[in-house]
Amino acid sequence: MTSPQPRECVSRIPAYVAGKPPQPRAGLTTYKLSSNENPYPPLPGVLDAAARAAEQMNRYPDMGNTALYEALADRLGLPTDHLALATGSVALIYQLVQAFCEPGDEVLYAWRSFEAYPIAVTAAGATSVQVPVTADGRHDLDAMAAAITERTRIVLVCTPNNPTGPAVTQAELDTFLAQVPARVLVVVDEAYVEFVRMGDPVDGLATVRRHENVVSTRTFSKAYGLAGFRVGYAIAPPPVATALRAVSLPFGVSSVAQAAAVASLDAEPALLERVEALVAERDRVVKGLADVGVSVPEAQGNFVWFAAGERTLDLAAAADALGIVVRPFAGDGARVSIGEPEANDRVVELGRTFLAGL
Ligand SMILES: *Cc1c(COP(=O)(O)O)cnc(C)c1O
Repeated sequence: MTSPQPRECVSRIPAYVAGKPPQPRAGLTTYKLSSNENPYPPLPGVLDAAARAAEQMNRYPDMGNTALYEALADRLGLPTDHLALATGSVALIYQLVQAFCEPGDEVLYAWRSFEAYPIAVTAAGATSVQVPVTADGRHDLDAMAAAITERTRIVLVCTPNNPTGPAVTQAELDTFLAQVPARVLVVVDEAYVEFVRMGDPVDGLATVRRHENVVSTRTFSKAYGLAGFRVGYAIAPPPVATALRAVSLPFGVSSVAQAAAVASLDAEPALLERVEALVAERDRVVKGLADVGVSVPEAQGNFVWFAAGERTLDLAAAADALGIVVRPFAGDGARVSIGEPEANDRVVELGRTFLAGL
């Protein structure tokens, strides 16, 4: 072979299947419930801040992300040396693997979980070790602790777990952390932290403060509605934050994204009201599904999981017919985001259809 060849691992990178947009249907408003996006349009103040930043698009962004680091540090009550910004928390996962794993090192995570994990791990030449979630979609933290080997460098704990929904408790996380060797980095992926409503929720910030091997990753994509702008951050012990910044793409977070994220932190009360409304809708969907006889795993994010197994693609087709697009994982189940109230009504309808055998 004489042409340039990518590294061997590149051919093994699984494809990321993005949530499909809805197809227009005559006489029916269609809704996208396939990417866990926030259905609300931007707040006017956030849009204005981004528009003002766009006037400077001929200039590079502030490479130091100064205003956003300061706003986050202020909001979280932490020095900025505990923070690392990136183009979405997906980028942080890539950077963590790049910074901490040699080829062949192991990254341990639950499965099924966030589909970007195997992509990031494989792309870095590291090895995925997947520990099945329980029948009700929960992390099996005891099995994960038992799966740690000499080669394990990173453990990813996705809570709430995308796509199944349940979150781990702080007590469960603490018991797990007590079993993890200090040389192993534990990443608590808190992409949906704002949606959690349960007893003893994980406090990622406090956990990072207590451990030198724990990182929390968070994002502006979900609760804050900035998915299109790509900005997320890690809360980490300073040496880990330094490593993350060292491998980051220079000028990664755009000036509009920085401005919109700062404005979002200023507008947090209004944004968190929307989160509250989405949580209420989530609980309404879960109850509506229960009323028609469909039980879903405990939903702590902005989505519900239908464990449809072999019927998953049929379920997705039934959803299409109802004018909602879901995210099917063939042979396993479908993840359905919480969206507009009318869309959510149709999710309950989908449950009824599903139970009736489609
Ligand atoms: C959506 C999501 C992210 C965040 O993605 P961004 O890159 O910040 O948009 C991270 N982890 C999980 C589990 C997610 O579902």
